[in-house]
Amino acid sequence: MSSLLRLREFVVEATRVVERAPDDERAQLAGVRPLLADLVAHDDWLPDEYATPDAQYYRQYLLHADPLGRFSVVSFVWGPGQTTPVHDHRTWGLVGILRGAEVSTAYEPRTNGNWIAGAPERLEPGRVVAVSPTLGDIHTIANAFDDRVSISIHVYGANIGEVRRAVYDVSKGFEEKPFVSGYANAATPNLWNFGRA
Ligand code: FE
Repeated sequence: MSSLLRLREFVVEATRVVERAPDDERAQLAGVRPLLADLVAHDDWLPDEYATPDAQYYRQYLLHADPLGRFSVVSFVWGPGQTTPVHDHRTWGLVGILRGAEVSTAYEPRTNGNWIAGAPERLEPGRVVAVSPTLGDIHTIANAFDDRVSISIHVYGANIGEVRRAVYDVSKGFEEKPFVSGYANAATPNLWNFGRA
C-alpha cells in the first residue's frame, strides 16, 4: 500500500462517520476511534515533513480539514521533553499514539476555585484516548521521553486550528487565556493523486 493511502482511507471512512451521525458526539467518537486505532497501528505512512519537531515548541501539522468543518486530522510532534500547556478543546477529540510515548494528565476545575489533577497516564504506540466537553476536556500532553521525538495523530470534531478555546496559566491559579492554535504548516499532503504517472 502506498503509505499515504492509509491516511486517505482514514479520511474517507471518517467522513462517512460524520456524514451518518451529524451532531452526535457519542456516535462520532465511537465510529472514528477504531479507524484511528487502525491508522496508528502502522507507523509507515506519515511523511517526514509532518513529523519534524521544532527545537523549542511542540508542533501541530494539519493533515486534513473536512471542507464542511466537521472534523480535522492533525499530527502532533513533540521534541525531547516538550509539553503542552494546560488547555481545552471545546469539541470532541481523539489522540492516537504513533511513535514514542506520551504522558496525558487530566485537570478538572472545582466550584471552590481549586483544580484537581488526575494521575498522569502513560500512552504507548497504538493507544487511543478521547477528550470532550462531556468526557473531560482539559489536559496536558507531554513527550514521555527527554531524548527523542514522540508523535500522535489527533482527530477533532471541528477544524481545531480555528477553534476559539483556552489555555490555563498554572502559575496564576489556572487563569483562563483565549487560545487559537492554528497550524505549523501551510499546505496539507495531497491524498488524491494516486495512480497517476
Ligand atoms: Fe489536547
